[in-house]
Amino acid sequence: MSKIDLKKEIRVIKDFPKKGVSFKDVTTILKSPKALKYTIDEMSDYIEDKKVDIIVGPEARGFLFGVPIATKLNLGFVPVRKPGKLPFQTHNVDYDLEYGTDKLEVHVDGIQKGQRIAVVDDLLATGGTALATSRLMEKVGGEVACLNFIIELTELEGRKKLNKYDIQSLVTYE
Ligand code: 5GP
Repeated sequence: MSKIDLKKEIRVIKDFPKKGVSFKDVTTILKSPKALKYTIDEMSDYIEDKKVDIIVGPEARGFLFGVPIATKLNLGFVPVRKPGKLPFQTHNVDYDLEYGTDKLEVHVDGIQKGQRIAVVDDLLATGGTALATSRLMEKVGGEVACLNFIIELTELEGRKKLNKYDIQSLVTYE
């Protein structure tokens, strides 16, 4: 696989969604065949060595990258969503936001006991989403084999919160 400079493929948008935030836009990866293939290949290669049974992705950008990785590795994909979005019965977990709390849900039959899971998302910031997703996976009897991100915002120290997990990120920003 020829290496590409993935950072060049990520569009950074100042002051989105609010002032002071520098948003990392991955739609520019998605529309580039070369960048998309590189991203899926790099994440799949990492996950392939971890004896994973199923790919899990939190909404919404976790879906965009989780499904092609699952397809490539011949695995299934299970979505984790905000409350009220999944149609069947769910298990859920609460997690803290900057202001207040929120929930994440997974279908009751999404994960089988003992399954090894790779959690795929586009970006690791504070780690709140990944931690809540991992806790939910453990609550339903799964084992989190690795957490896989395209982008890691190192200054927010999400890794500290996730120190018991095996983490991959392809590019980092301060
Ligand atoms: P955390 O829970 O780690 O603080 O935030 C990570 C979650 O927020 C991920 O699900 C990610 O999709 C979303 N997110 C936060 N900031 C950004 C950003 O700058 N770019 C993108 N693409 N997603 C972000």
